[in-house]
Amino acid sequence: VVQAQGIHKRFGRLEVLKGIDFEVGQGEVACLIGPSGSGKSTLLRCINHLEKINAGRLYVNGQLVGYRERGGKLYELRDKEVAEQRRDIGMVFQRFNLFPHMTALENIIEAPVQVRGESKAQARERGRELLDRVGLGDKESAYPAQLSGGQQQRVAIARALAMRPKLMLFDEPTSALDPELVGDVLGVMRQLAADGMTMIVVTHEMQFAREVADKVVFMDDGVVVEQGVPEQVIANPQHERTRGFLSRVL
Ligand code: ATP
Ligand code: MG
Repeated sequence: VVQAQGIHKRFGRLEVLKGIDFEVGQGEVACLIGPSGSGKSTLLRCINHLEKINAGRLYVNGQLVGYRERGGKLYELRDKEVAEQRRDIGMVFQRFNLFPHMTALENIIEAPVQVRGESKAQARERGRELLDRVGLGDKESAYPAQLSGGQQQRVAIARALAMRPKLMLFDEPTSALDPELVGDVLGVMRQLAADGMTMIVVTHEMQFAREVADKVVFMDDGVVVEQGVPEQVIANPQHERTRGFLSRVL
């Protein structure tokens, strides 16, 4: 579903991604781990085309992200076409960015109605199903301020799912939560993975990565140092940098 080939990204003179290669297949869960500033969020933002890459090729769902290739040349897509590509990708951030003036259900149906043109009745019905699925069936009328951080984050996941994405990106979805709320959010993500969703998850939750990931990708300083199954990367890392990082987070 995702193929990244030699991705480079610079901010001015700062090179943040220095040739990233990795793939995520249909239904796979990839966990991205690595120290602060290693480029994990930037990579996710490139996959969603919130950032433009400077070199390399990035494919999502078989399509080149942000460009069309014709006769060996690349042409930039128009904003509308980029928006269409992005529709198939759900993203959940560290900070729950729900609309504060809308209830949980209104937050969820906003994009399906406005962007996908679903009827309100249809969107509501599916919105309720999604709230049930994240364990918040009784909270449809609650405003974000009336929900805990963990509940807000689960609404954010339901909102992303309402767009029927083919790929879900998570950027440290639990790192702003009180410890006792982390488990519920990880539980929802675990279920999503079990249901076959393709996911890329930036996380420091090594237990989650060990149990749920098909692939763990360790990044440091803009490169992929090591990637493989969790038993390899987390339990038996080959590189000194991976070992150093794990000894700090485990
Ligand atoms: P963390 O674990 O702290 O979230 P990260 O691995 O997600 O870190 P990024 O947020 O991708 O790291 O940042 C990588 C580098 O890129 C950092 O040095 C950061 O300061 C820089 N950076 C990120 N976004 C921008 C931007 N818009 N403009 C300039 N520099 C940026
Ligand atoms: Mg980050």
